[in-house]
Amino acid sequence: MQQRYECENCGHQVTIEASAPVPDCCGQPMKALPLEACREAGPEAARPTKPEEPCEDFRGNHQ
Ligand SMILES: [Zn+2]
Repeated sequence: MQQRYECENCGHQVTIEASAPVPDCCGQPMKALPLEACREAGPEAARPTKPEEPCEDFRGNHQ
């Protein structure tokens, strides 16, 4: 399983193995984004809910 990280300073994103340490960018730890896991767990075909339901909603809870 992979994890996506985003730098809150410059917006740079990387996707690495979830078991890897949190990468640094601009001298600070990058912010983890749960988007990839969300997609893998729920393909659109298996979800009767509206497709525009944003995975971004989990961001606040994740931190
Ligand atoms: Zn950066």
